[in-house]
Amino acid sequence: MIRKVLIANRGEIAIRISLTLREMGIQTAAVFTEPDEHSPHLRAADEIQRIHSYLDSQEIVRTAKECSADAIHPGYGFLSESPTLAAACEQAGVIFIGPESDTLRTMGDKLESKGVMQKAGIPTVPSWHGSPPAAEYPVLVKAVGGGGGKGMRLVETAANLADAMASASREAASAFGDERVFLEKYIRQPRHIEFQILGDSHGNYIHVFERECSIQRRHQKIIEETPSTALTPDLRARMGAAAVAAAKAVSYRGAGTVEFILDPAGDFYFLEMNTRIQVEHPVTEMTTGLDFIREQVRIAEGGKLSYRQSDLHQIGHSIECRIYAEVPEEEFRPATGTVETFEPPAGPGIRLDSGVAQGSVVSYHFDPILAKLIVSAPSREAAIERMKRALRDFVLLGVRNNIEFLYRVISTEDFAAGKLDTGFLDRHPQVFSTSETIPIEAILAASLSITPHPADSSRATFPGVWTSGSWRNS
Ligand code: ADP
Ligand code: ADP
Ligand code: MG
Repeated sequence: MIRKVLIANRGEIAIRISLTLREMGIQTAAVFTEPDEHSPHLRAADEIQRIHSYLDSQEIVRTAKECSADAIHPGYGFLSESPTLAAACEQAGVIFIGPESDTLRTMGDKLESKGVMQKAGIPTVPSWHGSPPAAEYPVLVKAVGGGGGKGMRLVETAANLADAMASASREAASAFGDERVFLEKYIRQPRHIEFQILGDSHGNYIHVFERECSIQRRHQKIIEETPSTALTPDLRARMGAAAVAAAKAVSYRGAGTVEFILDPAGDFYFLEMNTRIQVEHPVTEMTTGLDFIREQVRIAEGGKLSYRQSDLHQIGHSIECRIYAEVPEEEFRPATGTVETFEPPAGPGIRLDSGVAQGSVVSYHFDPILAKLIVSAPSREAAIERMKRALRDFVLLGVRNNIEFLYRVISTEDFAAGKLDTGFLDRHPQVFSTSETIPIEAILAASLSITPHPADSSRATFPGVWTSGSWRNS
């Protein structure tokens, strides 16, 4: 039985994990580095431990031992998919709340994982190591060790291939310490559909339905929902079965996500598997009643899954908006500053997973996610109206953010019609126009005469350096 967990993360996910652990009667230890001395995630835990880096496996395991934690929850990002941390835990006799280090190693390699899936009979996107046949263009250059949408380049013709591979390779080397790249057929106008899966150490596997994550910028999700308007019961059943087969193929233990790309013809292909809790897991919780942190802990303790496939049902509709400290109108450059006013929306069917509060300092040290606004309602139409209302009620001043942008995206006719694909934002330039603003924010800002924070410059140190409109890794 797990009695105490060290949470090796920060921000909203560290708080989210603490909440369930407290409900389970499990003690929590939070960790922090210097810029996070006053971070809200420290208030959510029973005790706090100062560390030098969120990325040092040895230090994390040593800290867990020192404070007598019997398990480590890695959250998402940072060391969550690190075979090194999982192996260090295995060696030190600390429970890693996640899959085995071997699974992390295999699934962290986009080529190796594709190979495993092909063997298991799961469709994958055609890929090449060298020059693809001329008829296969456009192709996408991808980093073998990639993540977070980085290290990808679209190549329209053979003439541009060499340059794109070289620059993707450089980006991959600095971002992931692995310069290897490969080529994948570029699927046009695809939807990103992923399936949540759970596996225990007794050979039981289930899927907990899909999430549609097609609204993306820079290959990263910003709005997610479930159910997807693209799935018929038959397609859902076939994709769910493929996701369960993927989990079985690697004897997956814990909560994971199998990502697929769905083309306009209705054919789907395995993209990758994310071996951790996913940013967008709340929409699945809101429509199924499961608590994925609770399930992760139960599985890590060696317990059996609490649900059979036939126990699970999707009820209603849920949408998540990622609230980022960024300026969508200026190529999504990250923003910084101090949160002067933080008045989140409330009411029926609204959930807020936030990592910030009034007075929080937002710096370039970390991922720019501030909070996640999640709504649920009986129907998709009602969920959209609720999200619009909630975004309108959300007052966040002092740090520039994407709340108004999200409102404009959610308000488009195509979003309402469920006509989504990963090129949605490119096709809807009107969502970048600030003429249609949310009145309450403007009025409040004017009445409080809030001026832009002086620290809000255009240079970033995480997750890369933002220079002249593109990411460069330092
Ligand atoms: P998810 O796949 O959980 O929906 P994202 O695709 O947005 O979330 O990001 C995947 C994960 O990668 C997140 O945990 C995010 O914090 C992390 N991440 C974001 N940027 C980087 C980066 N530059 N390097 C490594 N990880 C990153
Ligand atoms: P990451 O590890 O960075 O999350 P993924 O392989 O999951 O990388 O891809 C991230 C996003 O990039 C997808 O959600 C999709 O929008 C786009 N993408 C990836 N592969 C393809 C492809 N073969 N064709 C078209 N778009 C793709
Ligand atoms: Mg992905």
